[in-house]
Amino acid sequence: ATPTALLVGTGRGAQLGILIKGPQILESTRRVDTIVLDKTGTITTGRMAVASVHAADGTTDTEVLRLAGALEHASEHPIAHAVAARAAEVGPLPAVEGFENHGGRGVSGVVEGHAMLAGRYSWLREQWALTAPDALQLVVDEAETQGRTPVWIAWDGAIRAVIVVSDTVKDTSAAAIGELRELGLSPVLLTGDNHRAAQSVADQVGIDEVISEVLPADKVDVIKNLQDQGRVVAMVGDGVNDAAALAQADLGLAMGTGTDVAIEASDLTLVRGDLRAAPDAIRLARATLRTIK
Ligand code: ADP
Ligand code: MG
Repeated sequence: ATPTALLVGTGRGAQLGILIKGPQILESTRRVDTIVLDKTGTITTGRMAVASVHAADGTTDTEVLRLAGALEHASEHPIAHAVAARAAEVGPLPAVEGFENHGGRGVSGVVEGHAMLAGRYSWLREQWALTAPDALQLVVDEAETQGRTPVWIAWDGAIRAVIVVSDTVKDTSAAAIGELRELGLSPVLLTGDNHRAAQSVADQVGIDEVISEVLPADKVDVIKNLQDQGRVVAMVGDGVNDAAALAQADLGLAMGTGTDVAIEASDLTLVRGDLRAAPDAIRLARATLRTIK
């Protein structure tokens, strides 16, 4: 009976848009009690857009977009795509030299002779001991409270601007999280983004437990810590950043809209990128188990 039941399970899975790597995952779906969800690209669409540009005294929005756009053009990050796309509307982008990506922190390089940094505030401070002009700090406080992400822009040793980037919560995410709770799973939001933006997204979808400002390499430790507390952990993610955490989780679920690395590291793929496939997958696996037993 076992092989037939498994086939039924996976056939139904394909109909629901769920790809299951192997039967060994069925057992872990029975025991999971915690589900860790990545924010960007999992709960949100991950299609970011520039909401506003705020230049400090001595420069202009156009100059900020041109230089920051040139720098971000070399990065693959969704934040970078948003900045480069907005900048390309303003005019042609100059070349960047010595580009470096600093995962979970920001990017650096030289544009038209200006040494530049773009990224999170704490990282800019570490690099160049910079402090934020008060006016920009106020803009950032407001933006973060609204769930947005500020990109701090510095060149030639001073902070020059903030570009505010916004993402949208998928309209199915809150319902999916409600269903996961009904299945007995406690949701946890995990992100590299700032705490206020993370909390705002968590509030919108009904998550109480928020772990934010986690560097890419540390996401796996968050999963291990939860497991050390005796929790059996599922993780849903989409990014290169999430791969190690997805592999460490008792059950890894990748968004089908995400990166190949995340999909390879996972037990299940949610083909449509709709988070409601996560509760579907858990229900299906549990039902399949009942059929086998
Ligand atoms: P997430 O966990 O939401 O996928 P990441 O770990 O990729 O986020 O990034 C964490 C933070 O690092 C971002 O919110 C942003 O502040 C900063 N960051 C990362 N890459 C870039 C970039 N290319 N440009 C500007 N900021 C960046
Ligand atoms: Mg992500």
